[in-house]
Amino acid sequence: MLKQLEAKEQTKEKLEQLLTKEARSRALRDHHAYRAPRPCGMTVHPGFGCTNSCLYCYVADMTAKKPSSEGAWPIVNRLSGTEMAYALASNPHFLPGVMGTFVAMGAVCDPLHEKLVGKTLEYLEAFNRFLGSPTQLSTKMRVGSELAEELAERSPRLSPLVTIITLKHASKLEPRAPPPTERLETISSFRRAGLRPMLFLRPIIPGLTDGEVDEVLSAARKAGAVGVVVGALRASEQIIGRLRKAGVQTDEIERRLGRRRLGKGLVSVSSGDLKREALRLARRRGLIPFASACCANAYTSGVPCTGLCWLRGFCTKCPNKCWTKLPKVDEEEVRQAVRRLLKLEPTSIQISKDEILIRLPRKVGKAEARIARVVMEVSARRLVRLQQP
Ligand code: SF4
Ligand code: SF4
Repeated sequence: MLKQLEAKEQTKEKLEQLLTKEARSRALRDHHAYRAPRPCGMTVHPGFGCTNSCLYCYVADMTAKKPSSEGAWPIVNRLSGTEMAYALASNPHFLPGVMGTFVAMGAVCDPLHEKLVGKTLEYLEAFNRFLGSPTQLSTKMRVGSELAEELAERSPRLSPLVTIITLKHASKLEPRAPPPTERLETISSFRRAGLRPMLFLRPIIPGLTDGEVDEVLSAARKAGAVGVVVGALRASEQIIGRLRKAGVQTDEIERRLGRRRLGKGLVSVSSGDLKREALRLARRRGLIPFASACCANAYTSGVPCTGLCWLRGFCTKCPNKCWTKLPKVDEEEVRQAVRRLLKLEPTSIQISKDEILIRLPRKVGKAEARIARVVMEVSARRLVRLQQP
């Protein structure tokens, strides 16, 4: 734990020396330098916005709110690879290293969109060189052998997720994305380049794409996918509106939403049964099934999942067996980490196989407590509970 905190400082100092004062301050002002990670890891945005126009995607709603100042989406991130690595190393929630925070690209853009691929390659190279973080990206783009090899060269442990949710309805649901046949080629290219591509079967759309899950799994497996990450649809008023406008029957989605009212925010559509069935079919097809993206990243890098999915009920018992790879943690290093992160002396510390319980002598700020908990959970790969008076 302490070694990781020290490594973080050293990484930061090393990067600091490579950047000018303006570059450092640009990186530190950027949200990557301070926001908290998502459950899949620290989401990194090589760009913002997308032209693929998938009807179920929330990115269109985000971009509708702020028209592109550059005239066309996506907007390329202005931070260089070294600046982005520095922003991450400076983020108090972030730990570098293979046993550190996971990185995930693809939350608000397609990182391999033709306008963003150069920036993504630059980021991957910088992360591999300076941070060593297990890194994942999701894409719908066509990737040929040359690009796949370049990605693998710059990021040998990269975890690529290739999204295909339907073969039959792609032209309706994803009107401007490359067709599924090209995305199957992407899977094959990644596999030939020595990476471990996963099918990203998210979102499963109830009443529409749930009926063809087996066909999609089978096609992905034939193309060379190693596993599959399944996930539910997250709906908003706008997403349902777009689906209806395109002639999609949304009754089953609405039935599953029950009494939950839709607004601008995203609501997860209850799909536990559909996900379980997809995972069952995946096993039958010889694909490694994952219920969360972080597990695919963990499996690819061979480290325990930072989302602690085996403790939080998302474990599909993949060959990674996270619980057999936990780092050793002793009371003294937790004590020193608490001193460093919270600037106080813990009253007591109890460490078990799954959890670290830390009693504090006084209340601490919410943000401070969250940072300490996030950092210690990633480092110790255990649930961390801070008990305050
Ligand atoms: S490709 Fe991804 S980011 Fe782009 S519109 Fe489709 S779901 Fe959204
Ligand atoms: S063993 Fe379980 S928790 Fe760990 S990566 Fe595999 S599925 Fe996820």
